[in-house]
Amino acid sequence: MRDAAKQRRIGLFGGTFDPVHKGHLAAARRAAEVLQLNKVVFVPAADPPHKKHTVARFSQRVAMLELALADTGDLFALSLVEAQRAAPSYTVETLIEFKDQLRGQRLFFIIGADSLLEIHLWYRYNQLFTLADFIVVARPGITDGQVTSAIACLPQGFVVKKPNFHWQSRDGASSLYYLRDGVLNISSSVLRRELAEKKCPEALPGQVLEYIQANHLYQGTGKDRAI
Ligand code: ATP
Ligand code: MG
Repeated sequence: MRDAAKQRRIGLFGGTFDPVHKGHLAAARRAAEVLQLNKVVFVPAADPPHKKHTVARFSQRVAMLELALADTGDLFALSLVEAQRAAPSYTVETLIEFKDQLRGQRLFFIIGADSLLEIHLWYRYNQLFTLADFIVVARPGITDGQVTSAIACLPQGFVVKKPNFHWQSRDGASSLYYLRDGVLNISSSVLRRELAEKKCPEALPGQVLEYIQANHLYQGTGKDRAI
């Protein structure tokens, strides 16, 4: 077997996961299926730079991720690497760390289309696309046109390889894929609102909902705590 054929393909999925929901799981599964990933590693942000605060503590967000990933076989994994570094949790540093550890394996970073639209605000964003290939997952409310324009503005000068699916940087070193199908219209912010209204959203994995109820999470406005 050639070396390239043996190369493992690892997806990293960063986020606040406050709380993790079925939309995250569906996006990760879809990315794994289309890009033939061997593993998707969920990387919760300990101290997300773009959110004023989280509602659940890091340890609670991790506990919910553990429950959500428990029955999903060995495709999914969890990394607490961002809690082991000084705050804030910069993705570029996470990618550098994984790239170093996973030498010889192909690294992908999974983000929703909403995150792509604001990626120019991320710390050292110029470097992000040199460290991993990107998988952008569609999100309701974000059009294909917005995604295509955002890709066209990236510093690596991405050119279309396969319309509406695959772009490659001008130097050929990195790829970006856009997955338009199989995504769910779910967000943590809507779920937090529903939970505050005492609803039991189906978009939460059952054990995550039980954890939230047992720990009385998301009952108020969510403005009452810092990380
Ligand atoms: P919030 O509403 O609090 O921002 P969220 O649902 O967007 O929560 P995050 O933890 O912010 O969840 O998201 C982590 C990553 O997952 C981001 O890149 C986001 O775009 C992506 N994502 C979240 N929900 C979905 C979904 N339903 N489909 C595809 N990607 C998603
Ligand atoms: Mg979000």
